[in-house]
Amino acid sequence: MKPSRSSRILVRASRSRYLPVALAFALSLAVTVPAFARPLVVIDPGHGGPYNHARYGSFLEKDANLLIALELGRQLYASGYDVRFTRTTDTAVSYVDLPTWHWTDHWTYAPDGVYWYSDAVPRDDLQARCDIANSLGADVFISVHCNGAASSSARGTENWASSHDILGQQLGQYVQAAVLEQTRQRDRGAGVTDFYVVRWTNMPALLVEAGFMSNSAEGAAIANATWRRAYAAGIVNGVNRWWSTAPTRPVHPRYTARTRPEAAVMASKAQWAAGADTLMLAMTSDTASALAAPLGTAKLGAPLLFADVLGITPPVAAEIARLHPSRIIALGAEVPDAVLAQAASAAGIDPSAVTRLAGAEAASTAPLLSGLTVSAETSTTIVLASATSPTEALAAASVASTCNGALLLARADGTLPPEAAAYLADHRPEIGAAIAVGTVPDGALAGLPNRVRIGSTDAMQTVAMNATVARPIGYLWLYCYNPLVPMDGIIAATAAARGAGGVAVPIAGTTGLSPYTREWLENNGDRVYAITMVGDYATLPPAVDHYVLKAID
Ligand SMILES: [Zn+2]
Repeated sequence: MKPSRSSRILVRASRSRYLPVALAFALSLAVTVPAFARPLVVIDPGHGGPYNHARYGSFLEKDANLLIALELGRQLYASGYDVRFTRTTDTAVSYVDLPTWHWTDHWTYAPDGVYWYSDAVPRDDLQARCDIANSLGADVFISVHCNGAASSSARGTENWASSHDILGQQLGQYVQAAVLEQTRQRDRGAGVTDFYVVRWTNMPALLVEAGFMSNSAEGAAIANATWRRAYAAGIVNGVNRWWSTAPTRPVHPRYTARTRPEAAVMASKAQWAAGADTLMLAMTSDTASALAAPLGTAKLGAPLLFADVLGITPPVAAEIARLHPSRIIALGAEVPDAVLAQAASAAGIDPSAVTRLAGAEAASTAPLLSGLTVSAETSTTIVLASATSPTEALAAASVASTCNGALLLARADGTLPPEAAAYLADHRPEIGAAIAVGTVPDGALAGLPNRVRIGSTDAMQTVAMNATVARPIGYLWLYCYNPLVPMDGIIAATAAARGAGGVAVPIAGTTGLSPYTREWLENNGDRVYAITMVGDYATLPPAVDHYVLKAID
C-alpha cells in the first residue's frame, strides 16, 4: 500500500518552520487530521567530502552512495513519500563541533571535540546526519552505503538496524527480502548493530550496504545505473510493504478527546476512580492561571477540570457529579461566577464551598495555591519559574510537588506579582531553600538561604534536570505532551502529580525528542513502567510513541 497524498497540503504546512500557525490551524479543525499521511524519509548518503571507505578501482563508495541515494529518493518520492537528503553533493555533512553521545556510566550529550579534519572517527559528521533527520521529525531514516573487504571474494547485500529500534529491525527484514527479489545477490541478512546513525536517530532507521565494491562483479554492478535502479526499487518495495503494516500506529494509551475539557475528564476518570474531596476548576482561555495545578493534585489530591466559552459542558458536569467533591477551588479570575455556580450545582454542594484563587494577574494564582498546600511545620522550599514559560513553570510545579515546595511565578522582567511577594514576606522564617528553574531571573530570591538554579537556556534540558531532581529513584510513569499546547501540558503534569513516579515529558509533536529529553529517557528507560500520551494525533503523532520506545529501550 502506498501512503495517501490526500492531506499533502496540511502535511507540508505542518512540517514548516511556521509550526505554531499550522498547529493552530490543525487544532481549529473539529476532527483529528491524519497529520503525516505522506511520510518523510530522510536519506543519508554515507561518507562524503574527506571521508570514504570502500572503492571499486577509482570509483569511490562516497560517490556510489550518493548515486544510489538520489535514485532512491526519486523512486520514494514517486511512490508517495516526502524525501530529504543529508547531503546531495560530495561533501562532509558537518564542519563544526557538535554535541554528540558519550557513554561513561550513563549517556551524556555534549560537545565532541572531534573535528572533520581529525584522524579520529568523525562523530560530529555522523551526529549532524542524525540531527538533520531528528530536527525534521522524519518518519524513516535510511543511510546508504556500499561494502568493502580485504578479500575480493566477499559479496552480497545486507542491512543493519539498531538494537534499540524494533521498527527499524522490522523494516530491515522487509527491505532485505525486497532487495533480493530485485538483485538476486547473496543474502547477508538483515542484522542488528548500533551504528551511530541508526542508534542516534529518533525514528525507525536502517543502514543498507548495497554490495561489495571490493568484489569485481558487485563493484561493476554498483557502477551501473540500471543495477542501481533495481536495487533502489527493492528498497522502495520493502519500505512500501513495511509501511502498509501501519508500523507507527499508536502503542501507548492516550488522554485525548473531542475537546480538551473532555481530555481532562478522561484523565480525571482514570486517576480518580474513587472520586475526590477537592476539585480544581480553570478556564481553557486562562491556562496561565492553572500552571500551579500539579501542586493542588499532589498536596490536596485534587483533579483539575476545565470550563470553556460554553461553560461547563455536559461531560464535565457529569464528571463533577461523579467525583462528588465537597470543595471546589477556582484557579484564576477568568472563571465566571455563573460557571462556579454551575460547578457547585453539579457537585451538589453549596456555592459557599467554592474558593476562588485569583489576583490581578495569572501569576497570582500560584502563591495563593501554595498558601493552601505548603505545610508550615516543615521547612519550605521556594521554587521560582517564569510565568511566561509554561514548560518551565510546569517543571517547577513538579519539583515543588515532590517537596514541601511553594511555587512562585515571576513576570518576564523577574519581578513578582504582589501575592508572591506577600508569600515570601509572610513565610520567610520557614524557608529553607530556594530553587530558580530554567531561565527565570532570580533577583526575587535574593537573601534566601540555599539558593540553586536547576535548568539551562534550553527548556527541554530544564525539564530533564528537574525530572532528575523530582524523581531521582523508583519507577516512572511518563505523561508525554506537546509543549506548544500548554493545556495538554497542564493535564499531563496534574496526572503526573497524582501517582507515584509521574513525570510530564514535553515532546515536540513534529520534531520529536529534544536531545536532552532523549538523554534523560536513555538514562532512565529501565525505570519506566508506563507511558501515557496526552493530546491528539495532530499535535502528538503516533511516530512519537516510537521515538520514546527507541529512546527507553
Ligand atoms: Zn560506508
